[in-house]
Amino acid sequence: MHFQILIVNIIILNKNMRKSIVSLLLLTFLLHVQCTSDVYSQNLRIRIFSVNNISEFSFTPSFGTYFLNDSVKIKKQDKVSIKPENGRISVTINETSSVFKDSVRLYSEDLKCFFQITPKNVKARRYDNNLIVKLSADKTNLILINEVSQDNYLAGVVQSEAGGASDNTEFFKVQAICCRSYMMRFINKHSKDGYNLCDDVNCQVYLSRANKTQCLEGASQTSGEVIVDKNDKIIETLFHSNSGGQTVNSEDVWSNKIDYLRSVTDTFSYGMPNYKWEKEITQRDWLNYFKSKGVDVKENKKQLLNFSQSEGRKAKILGIALTQVRKDFNLKSTFFDVVPWGNNVLLKGKGYGHGVGMSQEGAVRMCNEGYEYWEVIEHYYKDVKIKNLNKQENSAEEE
Ligand SMILES: [Zn+2]
Repeated sequence: MHFQILIVNIIILNKNMRKSIVSLLLLTFLLHVQCTSDVYSQNLRIRIFSVNNISEFSFTPSFGTYFLNDSVKIKKQDKVSIKPENGRISVTINETSSVFKDSVRLYSEDLKCFFQITPKNVKARRYDNNLIVKLSADKTNLILINEVSQDNYLAGVVQSEAGGASDNTEFFKVQAICCRSYMMRFINKHSKDGYNLCDDVNCQVYLSRANKTQCLEGASQTSGEVIVDKNDKIIETLFHSNSGGQTVNSEDVWSNKIDYLRSVTDTFSYGMPNYKWEKEITQRDWLNYFKSKGVDVKENKKQLLNFSQSEGRKAKILGIALTQVRKDFNLKSTFFDVVPWGNNVLLKGKGYGHGVGMSQEGAVRMCNEGYEYWEVIEHYYKDVKIKNLNKQENSAEEE
């Protein structure tokens, strides 16, 4: 539509102006293609050990050869120790020390290389590709940034977040697409700090490189793939442990309605490890809680002691949000029935987690039953499709 209007305008203009506008349009188009491709093909910068204060660490190439600032060769047998010293970074290689002003780079000879970091007082970890070391703002600690290929990073995230959940590559393809979608959506989250994402839960957990074959395959076999909604926007891939048999509408947890986060019946979560839970609370505590929330407990006692979600998940109990009740009583989920139990009430619950989006245990089950990764994604997220960012670039170049 917009393009048609532009063409009509171009025809009305004189020949020279037409020429320049056409080149301008072409330039805009090429720049757009270039930017999309740059964002996807670049290595990522991930801050590692982001929750730790790193005052000193040793660096060991675990596989391959490394170079300090592109010049000094570092091999596996070399002893490398790095720490802040008088507002600078001191690097000691086999008892020979050098100091550097702002940052130090440890570059690998190729993509297959990986290294180990052993900080003082923190457990050692291994990561793929390159390491950048900077001084913290107060110059007393070190900031470690792993410069890593996107698929290596994703395999590490998938293993850190769900490595023990399954041995089925298909499940790790589901996880890889979800984590890649998150990565692309939030790729500039920490850009003001000089890196893309950190390794903590507020971004995605990234505790090491991946060494589990299925996690590596999950990332490489879905390379470039993300989940988009009907407006072609990358979705927020929320997941939880177990839905208890029915997932939750986004607005019942966070108040904003999101089209692809709809409640769906989820029989795949039945019978999985986190499917059921129980908790006993004294009737007095249970009733007093609602009294403190302004509920007329005398009038509603029967309802409070016999609350049921057997007909489907509810968002509230007598006007009180179940998300609040879950938080206040430290419950595994909001999906529970209440049964009088002597002087107590028994909460008979199903599922584990907020219940929005994908049930991780349900996804494991689907994959084990032979469903393909895109079928799992289409089951838990409504009206979405998988888009390959690599292919999109190629077809744009061919046009
Ligand atoms: Zn972060």
